[in-house]
Amino acid sequence: MSIINALCRVSERIIFIAFADSNNGQRHKALTDIKAIYVSGGAIMENANTAARRLPYECLICGYVYDPSVGDPEHGIAPGTPFDELPADWVCPVCGAPRDMFKKSETIAPPPAQQSKHLVKEYKNQDIIVYWYPDKCSHAGKCWGELPEVFDVRKRPWVNLSGSNAKEIIRTVDKCPSNALQYSLPEGSSVDPNIAQGPGSKDY
Ligand code: SF4
Repeated sequence: MSIINALCRVSERIIFIAFADSNNGQRHKALTDIKAIYVSGGAIMENANTAARRLPYECLICGYVYDPSVGDPEHGIAPGTPFDELPADWVCPVCGAPRDMFKKSETIAPPPAQQSKHLVKEYKNQDIIVYWYPDKCSHAGKCWGELPEVFDVRKRPWVNLSGSNAKEIIRTVDKCPSNALQYSLPEGSSVDPNIAQGPGSKDY
């Protein structure tokens, strides 16, 4: 139960309400739980701290957005769970990145329907297009072990095609064990099509 402690009219349209949550009847608990909300034009708004806990977080690896209002029910996370209350071992449901690979987003999360679990990221230059399917990635690390100048998970974007030549990139992508990395040649590419027909080719 919440008890309204004070009302303070700031303007015609805004009233601050301070109230204490006295669920367990302990005074010190009640004091630490004091919240403030304001009412504007009939809509009840939360204070900055509470609103911040509802902000979405974006995975820096694959772009998946964790929306606290939706949670991650498939993995036991109830709707309404703020990001900072996720279990320490929670990982991105799309690419498996750990929590510390997420950054707070100041924008509203896209509706769940727009968050496909089958995201594809595309990296392109004049000679090659590399595709990355985060949900297929098994994180075997083959790519960054073979060609760290191009594949580096500590950098954003994590794929930097200017780090090497298309031939080396093709050679590395062909070794991806899960087919999470693929490539194709754009029109006008100077790469010999004969070397671009390995297991990583889109047309393989
Ligand atoms: S080689 Fe393929 S499966 Fe392994 S980390 Fe790279 S993209 Fe993921």
